[in-house]
Amino acid sequence: RLYNEIQELKGSIRVYCRVRPFLHEKPNPISTVCHLDDGSISISTIPSKNGKEVRKSFSFNKVFGSLATQDEVFSDTQPLVRSVLDGYNVCIFAYGQTGSGKTFTMSGPKEITEESQGVNYRALGDLFSYTQQRREAFHYDISVQMIEIYNEQVRDLLSTDGNTKKLEIRNNSQMDLNVPDANVVPVSCSYDVIQLMNIGQKNRAVSSTSMNDRSSRSHSCLTVHVQGKELASGTLLRGRMHLVDLAGSERVNKSEVTGDRLKEAQHINKSLSALGDVIFALAQKNPHVPYRNSKLTQLLQDSLGGHAKTLMFVHISPETDAVGETISTLKFAERVS
Ligand code: ADP
Ligand code: MG
Repeated sequence: RLYNEIQELKGSIRVYCRVRPFLHEKPNPISTVCHLDDGSISISTIPSKNGKEVRKSFSFNKVFGSLATQDEVFSDTQPLVRSVLDGYNVCIFAYGQTGSGKTFTMSGPKEITEESQGVNYRALGDLFSYTQQRREAFHYDISVQMIEIYNEQVRDLLSTDGNTKKLEIRNNSQMDLNVPDANVVPVSCSYDVIQLMNIGQKNRAVSSTSMNDRSSRSHSCLTVHVQGKELASGTLLRGRMHLVDLAGSERVNKSEVTGDRLKEAQHINKSLSALGDVIFALAQKNPHVPYRNSKLTQLLQDSLGGHAKTLMFVHISPETDAVGETISTLKFAERVS
């Protein structure tokens, strides 16, 4: 309910900012660049020209500091997740430079414990328990797909036969799957989900042996399909949720990279700009929304705009040397919120 009230005031997208703890650098009050407030974050920089501190502030629906737990982060996401059961389409993104905590928010750390599980696991777990609560009145079928977009090519991460052929995206109707050739796997408990995530992880890892850490240069998307049937009336409701761990948003220096690395960077840049443009057009209520400019926006078309609900987690590294990327990340987020 709160979500809907805020939506009416703010348009169709919410933005949460999350700052991860220091990993490489000891927190130092003198070099601290991030100052957090409940809904805003300010960044201070000291330009070498005059040595004076400059502060710039950014406001978001919510700002999570380095002490925020996975549980706290999820509790502000839960209403959105549950709306899928009422037939809404939902899109949740993790945006930020490589190393800023996107995968931590969506999946968790390398060794995932129950406590450190990220949004993906918690969202599905919550859907399972909530559908149980409603089982007297509704019957739900939940299934998932998991795909990767790398260099504007779509691949199935749940393929079990090593088949890595390029997949097509279709946008016909709410009833159809938009990547019909990717495996669709029914799930009914958290154990099923953990098994699938492991297959997805393995498929991602296979392709990263030749190119070091490809996962940070591709978008991965876990799509949850829900079909609910109201037992008394037989009415069917369909909802869909995309949970997206985006490729790292850092800009590469064109004079420093060449060949495959440059091509990857150009594809990432293109698709993240296309995403920004789509969300910006929606926020401006622009009648033309440029969905067709990237595979990412084509894939998410059904869940961006219209009655769909969107949440973007914007990730920030607190380290001093990240400040340039931090500011461009915050500017991206400010434009779409
Ligand atoms: P990204 O996916 O954006 O490249 P990761 O999620 O892999 O970044 O995070 C980089 C490192 O920081 C990982 O070792 C991760 O476990 C750790 N990390 C990120 N966010 C947090 C957090 N909120 N709390 C603790 N550790 C974190
Ligand atoms: Mg990652």
